[in-house]
Amino acid sequence: MRTHGDHAVVMGAGMGGLLAARVLTDHYESVTVLDRDPLPDTAEPRRGVPQGPHGHTLLPRGGLSLEAFFPGLLADLDGRGVPVITDDAAEIHFEPLGHHLAGTAPGADRAIHVPSRPMLERRVRAHLARVPTVRILDRCAVDGPRSDGGRVTGVRVTGPDGPCDLDADLVVDALGRGSRTPAWLAELGYPRPAEDTVTVRAAYSSLQLRVDPGALAEKMVLISATADRPTGAALFRHEDDMWDVSVFGVRGHAPPSDAAGMLDFLSGFAPAHVVEALRSAEPLTEPNSRTFPASRWRRYDRMRDLPDGLLVLGDGVCSLNPTYGQGMAVAAMQAEALAATLREGTRDLPRRYFRAAAKPIRDTWRFASVADRAILGATTGPLPWPIRALAPLGDTFFGAAAADPTLRDRFLEVFSLFSPPTRVLTPAAGLRIARATVRRRWGRTATTRPEQPGPTPVGSRPSPH
Ligand SMILES: Cc1cc2nc3c(=O)[nH]c(=O)nc-3n(C[C@H](O)[C@H](O)[C@H](O)COP(=O)(O)OP(=O)(O)OC[C@H]3O[C@@H](n4cnc5c(N)ncnc54)[C@H](O)[C@@H]3O)c2cc1C
Repeated sequence: MRTHGDHAVVMGAGMGGLLAARVLTDHYESVTVLDRDPLPDTAEPRRGVPQGPHGHTLLPRGGLSLEAFFPGLLADLDGRGVPVITDDAAEIHFEPLGHHLAGTAPGADRAIHVPSRPMLERRVRAHLARVPTVRILDRCAVDGPRSDGGRVTGVRVTGPDGPCDLDADLVVDALGRGSRTPAWLAELGYPRPAEDTVTVRAAYSSLQLRVDPGALAEKMVLISATADRPTGAALFRHEDDMWDVSVFGVRGHAPPSDAAGMLDFLSGFAPAHVVEALRSAEPLTEPNSRTFPASRWRRYDRMRDLPDGLLVLGDGVCSLNPTYGQGMAVAAMQAEALAATLREGTRDLPRRYFRAAAKPIRDTWRFASVADRAILGATTGPLPWPIRALAPLGDTFFGAAAADPTLRDRFLEVFSLFSPPTRVLTPAAGLRIARATVRRRWGRTATTRPEQPGPTPVGSRPSPH
């Protein structure tokens, strides 16, 4: 281990903070993690993570990263009854932009673990707490950084015994979407970072249900909004046969916030057998509703002047449209960037780290931009031309991917964050899209000609099951 200093402080014990702390244990003599909330020993939602009661999935890329940081974590989750999806395609119903990608299975080496968000955070925290040089202090609200000239030298904290200061060689802001680093930079005499934003105007309602174990083959049902239907759902089977049922609207459409209304809403577009199983399930919680105004990427990577000793990781840098389920995996990839940067020393650390972290964020942001353009018609700022070109073709692409397993698997590689979006922009992929589209159109013309039915109303599409 190369020691870069005596003490590092991480503000926030959410997913980003726990990962940052793990990285810092390789380079600092001791690491303190501070969180305003009481941190429960049980896996339950908490106030500081208001998104906790809403359906979360850990993309396989994120799962592999977490396992690398905390060896044994995935086996620990398995042992606690967390569902895992490997080879059985019946366990996933995935419907991006109205096209069911049947036959989708990640395989054993890219298994999808489906813990509830509180369970995942609880177990990651437990693994971090085993590192002897880490202290995790709850009920400690961070008030702001302390600085000396152009260097952040610690934090001001209000804990159970009142206000105090903590010295640190490095401070990492992992305070989530509510990160106050832009305001703190201004107080320290630095400019605020520029922001890229995409207006999503999403609204969620979620509740937890206990579903009869044999009632559904699926462990995950993901149905995105489409250009014509601003609604979707993310349903996950977690530990203890508990299901997170999240329904959402985008472009300002809010789903109902009562249980019966949510299931009626879901029946408008989800497979009938899934809705039926949920209707006879045991409610475990009252519905919880929340809005998400916009995706936001704070461009610290573009700043010329940054104080030494202060970094930001997680949603505080980039908070992504949650309907694509990428946030935790991207936080893990930022932690990988932090590890790689620290391995090269601390010279010019903020600039090198923010630039390294921007790489995985950029790929994910671009992926989301294509989907956002297709679904929301949202303007996402400048994009490279191949991505601009793909955005209006979303429906054509997914129609082709639903019929062509090679295209489908390529898309899943991108969706799972194993490859950049350009992976589906090769000439060979273009040919496959064209071929599948022609076949689809031809097939549709051939089968529809005798009856000439009108368009299928939203919600009455037959279940593929
Ligand atoms: C509705 C919804 C659904 C989502 N679904 C998914 C999904 O399926 N998959 C996925 O990967 N991502 C999903 N996300 C995104 C994911 O939740 C975030 O990307 C992830 O939690 C970011 O982690 P973080 O550590 O940056 O922030 P958080 O996990 O939000 O943690 C911030 C921490 O800072 C603490 N804190 C705040 N202020 C202070 C203070 N002043 N002092 C001390 N502590 C403080 C809080 O208590 C909290 O512990 C979803 C988000 C939303 C909104």
